[in-house]
Amino acid sequence: MSRLQELLEKVEVTTAFIGKKAKDGIDFLKLNRDYSKEKNKLSLLYEELGRIAYQIHNQETNDVNEIENLCTQIKEQIKVVDQLEHEMNNLRDENHTIQEDHGTKETHIPENIPKPEAGKDGFLLLKFCPECQIGNNPEAKQCISCGHIF
Ligand SMILES: [Zn+2]
Repeated sequence: MSRLQELLEKVEVTTAFIGKKAKDGIDFLKLNRDYSKEKNKLSLLYEELGRIAYQIHNQETNDVNEIENLCTQIKEQIKVVDQLEHEMNNLRDENHTIQEDHGTKETHIPENIPKPEAGKDGFLLLKFCPECQIGNNPEAKQCISCGHIF
């Protein structure tokens, strides 16, 4: 009887542990999905920006306000993506620092968030992907949208 009790307790603990792991996994997946979605939105904003820059260059339009507007949206979107990346790092840290809780926490500054750069003429320089036509950071080695290697 006491043996059975012992066994049952073990099973309970194991189940609780698996349950927690699974929940963390789901949280992470959800975050990861949101992150991809928001990053994709950012890509679309860059694409739109590239399109307008191209039109202005070809004198099809001179809607400079639209560029201003898009730059503001991109700035906000970068904040959203940064925040999600931060949350993902926190969740990752939580899982890895259960034993060593007293160490100083490193702050992760994301480096892979693309930011547009302006050329001499004030237009934004973007590297367009031949696969999906998304405007990427000029330094990008890989397309942020489809993963094409430049
Ligand atoms: Zn691409």
